[in-house]
Amino acid sequence: MFRKNVSLKNYTTFKIGGKAKYFYITQTKKDLTDAASMAKKLKLPFFVLGGGSNLLVSDKGFDGLVIKIENCKLKIEKYKMVAEAGVPLGQLVSAATNVGLSGMEWAAGIPGTVGGAVYGNAGAFRKSMKDVVEKVEVFDTKDLEFKIYNSRDCKFSYRESIFKKRKNLIIVSSILKLKKGEKFEIKKRIKEYVDYKIETQPLNYPSAGSVFKNPTKDFAAKLIEKCGLKGKKVNDAKISEKHANFIVNLGKANEKDIKKLINLIKKEVKNKFGVVLEEEIQFL
Ligand SMILES: Cc1cc2nc3c(=O)[nH]c(=O)nc-3n(C[C@H](O)[C@H](O)[C@H](O)COP(=O)(O)OP(=O)(O)OC[C@H]3O[C@@H](n4cnc5c(N)ncnc54)[C@H](O)[C@@H]3O)c2cc1C
Repeated sequence: MFRKNVSLKNYTTFKIGGKAKYFYITQTKKDLTDAASMAKKLKLPFFVLGGGSNLLVSDKGFDGLVIKIENCKLKIEKYKMVAEAGVPLGQLVSAATNVGLSGMEWAAGIPGTVGGAVYGNAGAFRKSMKDVVEKVEVFDTKDLEFKIYNSRDCKFSYRESIFKKRKNLIIVSSILKLKKGEKFEIKKRIKEYVDYKIETQPLNYPSAGSVFKNPTKDFAAKLIEKCGLKGKKVNDAKISEKHANFIVNLGKANEKDIKKLINLIKKEVKNKFGVVLEEEIQFL
């Protein structure tokens, strides 16, 4: 489905952002190759969008083509799950639980898609996509070919992957290797993880999750809190009082408001602790 001048606000969990000049929702592999080929032919810059849950979109929008991945096929073959990039992470966790497969419990409650999770090596509770990804199928927009990356090729590390550096690669699907588990134990672990998140994260306001990566041997939230920045506001953007590494949108915050808080945090943490915080969220 191809559209023009689409507001990106409603496609991000921050509820912030201007319009995309062109917007294409893909549901099949052919849609995806069509969209990427069109961008190449017209020399249009493109951006691949999953669930928009780790993203701050510019108030000016994007003067190019946003390719929104909604390819949602999901297959289970014994201990493996073959998931297209647009499968919501929550749906993957439920499907694994239903057949008694363990290994994705940590992802319960994380919004977004499997593609976005692979791209950023999403993780929680000391686990991440790195632990389960066996293979990733990509579409290379340079030569318009499908390619297979095995886990090592993905160069996963803390919230990093090769895909953050190679913007020409669109993640199409992934094979995830899980383990047989007891359903009641899987469910119990999921409940513990989700309860912890509800208790510690400001989930009742729009946000993009943790804004910064944790520095080595420390927690970004702790450093931000120690700078006395919890509750600090710029218009409708606020550093959460519940979790200092979350910036929430109280209603009408825009990109500039969020960026002002990001810059303030970076400055204060650098001055007080000599630590340079690095953004986990992505920008468009
Ligand atoms: C309340 C809340 C809690 C969160 N908790 C966690 C957490 O515990 N752990 C964690 O790691 N993250 C967390 N996040 C952040 C976010 O949910 C994850 O990073 C998620 O994996 C992003 O997926 P997405 O589909 O929304 O990606 P998007 O936000 O749509 O995109 C993020 C980046 O991935 C790229 N991308 C997306 N899909 C593809 C694709 N198919 N091919 C190539 N590139 C692609 C985009 O271009 C962009 O650069 C949280 C966010 C929120 C709002």
